Amino acid sequence: MDLSRQYAETRDAQDPIGHFRTRFHIPDERLVYFDGNSLGRLPLTTRDRLHDAIDREWGGELIRGWDTWIDLAGRAGDVIAEGVLGVARGEVILSDSSSVNLFKLASAALDASPGRHVIVTDDDNFPTDRYVLEGLARARGLELRIVATDIDAGVDPARIAAALDDDVALVCLSHVAYRSGALADMVAITTAAHRVGALTLWDLCHSAGSVPVPLRESGADLAVGCTYKYLNAGPGAPAFLYVRRDLQARLRQPIWGWFGQRDQFAMDAGYDPVESIERFQVGTPPVLGGYAVLEGARITAEAGIPCLYDKSAELSSYTIQLGEAWLGDRLALASPSDPGQRGSHVTFHHPQAWQICQALKAAKVIPDFRTPERLRIGLAPLYTRFVDVWEGMARLRDIVTSGSYREFEAVRGRVT
Ligand SMILES: *Cc1c(COP(=O)(O)O)cnc(C)c1O
Repeated sequence: MDLSRQYAETRDAQDPIGHFRTRFHIPDERLVYFDGNSLGRLPLTTRDRLHDAIDREWGGELIRGWDTWIDLAGRAGDVIAEGVLGVARGEVILSDSSSVNLFKLASAALDASPGRHVIVTDDDNFPTDRYVLEGLARARGLELRIVATDIDAGVDPARIAAALDDDVALVCLSHVAYRSGALADMVAITTAAHRVGALTLWDLCHSAGSVPVPLRESGADLAVGCTYKYLNAGPGAPAFLYVRRDLQARLRQPIWGWFGQRDQFAMDAGYDPVESIERFQVGTPPVLGGYAVLEGARITAEAGIPCLYDKSAELSSYTIQLGEAWLGDRLALASPSDPGQRGSHVTFHHPQAWQICQALKAAKVIPDFRTPERLRIGLAPLYTRFVDVWEGMARLRDIVTSGSYREFEAVRGRVT
């Protein structure tokens, strides 16, 4: 294994999607950003588009702007559908946050199976998913069946299958685990759920823009995901939701808002939702955030998921190799070692991971910390270079081998 910086430079020179980095606003080349899986960088086209949307559309067009804004959520949804998720136009729309969409789609799925009493998830699912499902189960008097998952190895399809029976209405899991990056087997799990007549709802927050998502191949029913991570749409940008076409007219979400209504501006007395994906919208969509999703998703679609996934696997393997070579006796891999089992981030375990994170930030390397004692390294393939991995891991090596991290506060802050 060649540990030189020059080797990383050679890899960058050979990278077929390396030039996409120039499409982003990068004011500090010394800053190593390993957190594109929590908040992606700012695309230059997004900055221009938002300036235009603010000055010309909002400032100049005023209310007339709604003639173009009214279907923005669907237009951006179509770019995500075709260019990111490999599903059809009209199967994805922007709306609300991932948490709210999870509530809407889980409720719709439960309403569609009134005779069933169980929701299945796992104990490593993202907290908001577990809380939303816990609340739904409580409100409806249902059982929330929580399957145990190894936090580093990820969801075991056999354990999920063992939790299924014909009383299960819904199986809700994350496709890429937020902590370890482990990939769940969407095809095997969806097949097992369908065998007992349950619907599946997938959280794609760490998948969209980083890995191929087999919604089509698996026949998955429902999905939600956020856009501010690998899709680079900015803090608080609206989330997306997916409903397989043949289910759309059959499912009804719990919040009967006017953006789902058939002829919205007829202002009619009763709720009569459209049959299409728009029925899963609720109220007035955030237009500025919607434009940011449109631009961010377009760049991802242009690079293409196959190329992004190849690069992400190479970056994560390189990160693991440097970690083993330089810190093998001090840092333990807390992600699957097989790149085919990983999303686009790598996690290491160290008892002082929180202090190491603070020391890295002081050295201009931005990773993040996740309980318990995990250092998470996000490798957003659109703009992360091999040289960034080399630099970041070299600074990590110096911090860990010198013990300089011990000078940093050991108590975890409010935001990690
Ligand atoms: C980031 C993330 C979320 C965030 O949900 P919000 O409603 O946008 O706060 C949900 N699920 C997973 C798996 C995530 O990684």
